[in-house]
Amino acid sequence: MREKLPNDFLNQIAAKLPNKKYRIGYPITQNSALKDFYKWVLDSGLCDGVLNNVGDPFAPHEYIINSLDVEREVMGFFAPLFGYERDEFWGMITTGGTDSNNHGIYFGHSILKKHGKPIMYVSREAHYSNYRLADLQGIELRFIDTDESGAMSVSDFSAKLDSSRPALIVFALGTTFKGAIDDQRAINEVIKSKNPPAVYRHVDAALLGGLLIFDKRAEHLINQKELGYDSIAVSGHKFFGIDEPCGIFLCQKSVYEAQKSFNISYLHANMPMIECSRSSFTPLKLYWILNHYGISGFKAEVEKIHENTLYLKSCLDEMSYPAWLNADSNIVYFARPQSALMHKYFFAPDHDSRLGGELAHIVVMGHVDRDIIDEFIADLKESLK
Ligand SMILES: *Cc1c(COP(=O)(O)O)cnc(C)c1O
Repeated sequence: MREKLPNDFLNQIAAKLPNKKYRIGYPITQNSALKDFYKWVLDSGLCDGVLNNVGDPFAPHEYIINSLDVEREVMGFFAPLFGYERDEFWGMITTGGTDSNNHGIYFGHSILKKHGKPIMYVSREAHYSNYRLADLQGIELRFIDTDESGAMSVSDFSAKLDSSRPALIVFALGTTFKGAIDDQRAINEVIKSKNPPAVYRHVDAALLGGLLIFDKRAEHLINQKELGYDSIAVSGHKFFGIDEPCGIFLCQKSVYEAQKSFNISYLHANMPMIECSRSSFTPLKLYWILNHYGISGFKAEVEKIHENTLYLKSCLDEMSYPAWLNADSNIVYFARPQSALMHKYFFAPDHDSRLGGELAHIVVMGHVDRDIIDEFIADLKESLK
């Protein structure tokens, strides 16, 4: 056995990474603002030990080899942007959008099951993690059809809603491929008229949640007070540019309080969350990023993304290339180009026969600027000659 693995291998891997400007097919910003963070980790001495966020950031904690206080600050920054009042929410930093969805579905199910056997409703274009999690948690799942834009069909929901059983609704606030936003208001109207015995609403806003909280025009799509959802999930490594998977999870305090508590004396906590150990590093990175941009910096970033998204769509329209863009989304989806382009730009494939078949998309994140859009459009024109 080798005593030591050669670092040459890591250098080779680093050298092989493609130019980041071409990474435009996935919802991950490539503008990392963490260089100075790593310097701080070295300078502060933090790198000399290992922290671990075991416990509830909002419960008193005596064990201090963690960053729970920073985590609580980060959640305190986010909560009002979603419309929560100071003492009305509970939240934590998770391992990603999936983990945040897992908590939403788990918390919701544990409340609903007191009223009968729940059914979970989610659209066919929502993120697959929701299907997987329903399976994992043993929850009966009912798929709702989508309209062409990718949003949950309100009429299909109405037809499939079983008014005799508790309903767990997972709304897509931005479907993964088309960026479609389920109409919470219209679906809430259906729920009101059918009146199931109990309802829990979880919002999967993995990508768009990060952008829309900084967009005044979109407040009606994200504000908890206006929409009345019970919990929401957002990824930390998509819009916020954290360089490892992480997410935020927020819920009404009453949801948190309704969870079964296991009093764990050696942790001084009742541990409502699924994981025991959680990262101490991601709260530090999120805190760093929030400080780096500030609200005004994020607003400028969102405005830039909005303009570049419209620009990309207008370039495709100008050449009469089949392309679509949902309102309030930063995802332009279009007829799938030649495979050389699929590879060059790391495009993800999808299929929708209602839109002519094979599709691809560009997710306009902070690093997707006019230069790369122009290069793609030139390549696309060339490929059609
Ligand atoms: C990316 C995404 C997820 C999964 O989030 P991870 O952070 O990758 O676990 C869930 N839902 C939607 C809508 C997404 O776009």
